[in-house]
Amino acid sequence: ETEIPEDHPRYASLVTRHRIEAGVEKGITSKQGLIAQGRGEAFDYLLGERTLPSADAAERAAAATLLCADHPVLSVNGNVAALAPAEIVDLAAAVDADIEVNLFNHTDERVRRIADHLREHGADEVKGLAGDGEIPGLDHARGTVDADGIEAADVVVVPLEDGDRAEALDAMGKTEIVVDLNPGSRSPRTADIPIIDNLIRAVPNVTAHARDLADAPASRRDAIDSFDADEALAEAEAAIREGSFGMPDDAAADGDASNA
Ligand code: ATP
Ligand code: MG
Repeated sequence: ETEIPEDHPRYASLVTRHRIEAGVEKGITSKQGLIAQGRGEAFDYLLGERTLPSADAAERAAAATLLCADHPVLSVNGNVAALAPAEIVDLAAAVDADIEVNLFNHTDERVRRIADHLREHGADEVKGLAGDGEIPGLDHARGTVDADGIEAADVVVVPLEDGDRAEALDAMGKTEIVVDLNPGSRSPRTADIPIIDNLIRAVPNVTAHARDLADAPASRRDAIDSFDADEALAEAEAAIREGSFGMPDDAAADGDASNA
């Protein structure tokens, strides 16, 4: 385990990276997941590694939508499991959602490892091994889900989902909440609620909003009605274009020598 000094200007980013590395070593994160992480880091850097006000509004709308759902499901892949296992378990409890492991590069072995990892972090039931349902329009390997999980869900949270599956889920009529740092990617563009934020910041903030909205049905309506997906995507893109390349104290200027 590498020691990272907490006062390092990129502390959060480096901790995140090490979680993904540990995930690969544990056999829960794929090598493709490492590449997705690199892409995410680049976008997060451009966004200033912060939650934009429009992302916070998306997180609040997501919380409200989950609380209003009949059968919400949180989809978990190898990156999500490595980065935020306890946070996913907390969110599932706060909005009474199922957790389903759903992998782009599916193997039963990896699904089992991820399910065990989530249970180590407090999960009760974890779906994804039955594989008795499907997302129409995808080939078998990509489209297999649980019949009483994602197939039956009315609202799905799909963090870091690939574009084809996001579109296929949308075609099934599901309300989709996507977490993705790239506002230009197909997945958030397909989503009813795109959250352009780091999963690590997004998930606990959705949970905090859910706790806040639990006993406030009128505020839930308002959070959903006042959220505009296109506006949120445009604001994230503008923040990237106009950004100061983001480090709060300009530490970015000395480059990142942390890979040594
Ligand atoms: P597609 O158009 O098919 O979605 P893509 O190039 O976006 O193609 P993905 O596999 O979706 O390919 O890429 C991974 C996505 O996950 C990237 O958009 C990246 O920004 C995002 N991502 C990676 N890590 C995180 C994270 N920690 N939080 C939020 N988003 C992340
Ligand atoms: Mg994408």
